[in-house]
Amino acid sequence: MLFDTHAHYDDGRFDEDRDALLRSMPENGVGLILNPGCDLATSRTAVSFAETYDFMYAAVGYHPENLENGVDLDAIRTLAEAHPKVRAIGEIGLDYYWEKDAEKRAYQREIFRSQMVLAEALSLPVIVHDRDAHADCLAITQEFANVRGVYHCYAGSAEMAHELLNAGYYISFTGVITFKNARKAIEVIRAVPLDRLMIETDSPYMAPEPYRGRRNSSLYVHRMAETIAEIKDISTAEVERVTTENGKKLFSID
Ligand SMILES: [Zn+2]
Repeated sequence: MLFDTHAHYDDGRFDEDRDALLRSMPENGVGLILNPGCDLATSRTAVSFAETYDFMYAAVGYHPENLENGVDLDAIRTLAEAHPKVRAIGEIGLDYYWEKDAEKRAYQREIFRSQMVLAEALSLPVIVHDRDAHADCLAITQEFANVRGVYHCYAGSAEMAHELLNAGYYISFTGVITFKNARKAIEVIRAVPLDRLMIETDSPYMAPEPYRGRRNSSLYVHRMAETIAEIKDISTAEVERVTTENGKKLFSID
């Protein structure tokens, strides 16, 4: 059974077939899906999916690219407290690829810290988005020794991965690892023990090879298990079993 630990089914690209697609997941070997929120509206939608589908869980929070229209962390807190299938604060973090303005980057750090404080207060793990902000993301992560989580769509170095493992974090990979230029990710996968790796699609983005360029869905998450199995020279079944265990452990799923 596969666990897609990061997929955005709130995205409009699923409007036409969302329910049929989601209902087809268990029969296709995808037994668990976690849908993170990116702002208040998508966090609410993520919660509604978790309440509709047995195999779905939610995270709630503000993505660093979604801070422009106001941030209501009290509402995020209320959602997390009121709904037992909210299992993380996320996705949160820093995105310096899309944000070049120094003041706005500082605001991203402020909101990242506030959401780490919230995760600590609620004893929830975090789902971290780090794009071109490795040093600052790591520093803020290390300020919160009581918070655990996962770095999703990991793009940092093997050295940084070691720091994150020491901080109790998991490392998660998308379809990027199936691309031809994935040399750096392959090095990280070799360096990180299987019991700290997770897999995800980041649907509808990042479709793995050979589906690159199409709308992604959890139906393709097996490609990440197969790719990690090849890199680590172990069976796909073993990768599937352990990465699912890892996700269940981090997100407290029985
Ligand atoms: Zn995402």
